[in-house]
Amino acid sequence: MSSDNQNKRARSENNEEGSDDWKSQPPYAPNDEMKGKKATMTGSCHCGDVKFEIYADKPLKAHFCHCSTCHKLHGSAMHWSAVMEKTDVLFKCSTDKMSFYRTEDQTVKHELPAKMTCVRCKSPICDEGRGKILMYPSLFDFSKKEDQEPWMPVHHIFYENRSIEIEDGKDKWTGMQDSSEKMDEKAIHGRKGAAGSGNK
Ligand SMILES: [Zn+2]
Ligand SMILES: [Zn+2]
Repeated sequence: MSSDNQNKRARSENNEEGSDDWKSQPPYAPNDEMKGKKATMTGSCHCGDVKFEIYADKPLKAHFCHCSTCHKLHGSAMHWSAVMEKTDVLFKCSTDKMSFYRTEDQTVKHELPAKMTCVRCKSPICDEGRGKILMYPSLFDFSKKEDQEPWMPVHHIFYENRSIEIEDGKDKWTGMQDSSEKMDEKAIHGRKGAAGSGNK
């Protein structure tokens, strides 16, 4: 083994962060395909340390998630997520401003899948998978309400775990989309009404 390889291995064994190769790839640095493209949207965390650009008019798909992890990590009744290609997102700040967290083993390192927060204000920024990235449209700089339209969720996931009833006609899945059961919204609200806790 060359000393270079030995150094590399020693680094990945000793350093929690492992290889830094990811820092030179989308969404942390542009690839050739992204250079010269015009951003369609910008976004940031609450304090502005973490900034990003979006290079798509709409996501691959978007959802409201009602899972218990989202409840914990976002402190909200549900979470708005947009699935995107990593090449349609570009972070415009140093990776020093970002902190990563893996729900799988509860470690803080950039090993995918991992969720990112801002080091300073702790805003949740995104959930980076191995192939795609989940961006949070709540962080986008929409100039008017109509601009949100293409980013609005088409369905609810983990709706069985909901803490709020949403009667919006969108598909409701008990768990992940397509790999769980689709719930009947009318039946749910019918039950709610019968129990006397609904508005109808
Ligand atoms: Zn921040
Ligand atoms: Zn969730």
